[in-house]
Amino acid sequence: MNLIKLAHKYIGGLTHAHTVLSNHAGHHESNLTIDRIVRSLDKGNLAGDDTSPLAYVLLNEHPSDPARPRQLGRLSPRGRRLLRQRRRPVVGRVPIMYGLEVSLLASGRTDLTPRLADRCPLIIASRHTLPPETERDEEAIAQLFSDACDNPLVDVLGHPPRFIEDLTAVDWPAIFAKAKATGTAIEVNLNTFPDDDDHLIQRQFWPLWLKELARSEADVFIGTDIHNQLQLDSFISQWHELNQEVSWRDNHLAQFITALAAADIKPAKVITADFDRFKHWTQLDKSERSHLHS
Ligand SMILES: [Zn+2]
Ligand SMILES: [Zn+2]
Repeated sequence: MNLIKLAHKYIGGLTHAHTVLSNHAGHHESNLTIDRIVRSLDKGNLAGDDTSPLAYVLLNEHPSDPARPRQLGRLSPRGRRLLRQRRRPVVGRVPIMYGLEVSLLASGRTDLTPRLADRCPLIIASRHTLPPETERDEEAIAQLFSDACDNPLVDVLGHPPRFIEDLTAVDWPAIFAKAKATGTAIEVNLNTFPDDDDHLIQRQFWPLWLKELARSEADVFIGTDIHNQLQLDSFISQWHELNQEVSWRDNHLAQFITALAAADIKPAKVITADFDRFKHWTQLDKSERSHLHS
């Protein structure tokens, strides 16, 4: 199998990327800026030309600290910085989309504010820190996902199985059906895809979870979820090493796309795979998306 070709089919942009704007006091998750991302992709021949494999960058910053999510006040400096960031639609010939990754709150709401939601092309809602009684309770988890799907502003459920791969009572087919019915996409997150050092439970869980997702009618959002320069450099070098037989077993990206193909996730189901199709998808409202056939 030609893994470069496969990567092209599944991955059309650098998606779910974070920059220093996602850092919070006591929570430093990124050392990237938009310029650094674009420069690295350009230098690594992954973006910047008509023939480059990645046609766009989609940023998904955290509005509030994912370790202590809360709604920002109307005049918060952070909110203003996030809005200012949106002024550069193209950086060094690479189109940039300014989405957000909001945190789900135990109340069923998110830390998103109306000002930040306004004209935001893509909102991922993820489980980050939650009260202990909610965090690993299957019913509470199902309710949280269901509320997120019912939220007209939430486009994607972010890294849904992270840290709950061992909870056997989570009804994934029901969650995927709810996602489809409400026009919400399911993220398949490269960053949380297990590697060889991860626990057996995660490695056993993922192929089955991907197969369930492939069987469902839910749209799939592939998130590269890059936070720092090290991850970005490693993503770029792994991409170029995709066709080197010797190393593919150590190549996390190769394992990821191979797992997608093995689970029979059809590239046509992946909304992020093609820039024009993705832009079109973001412009539809959720009820229109729920009627799309993949
Ligand atoms: Zn997250
Ligand atoms: Zn993230």
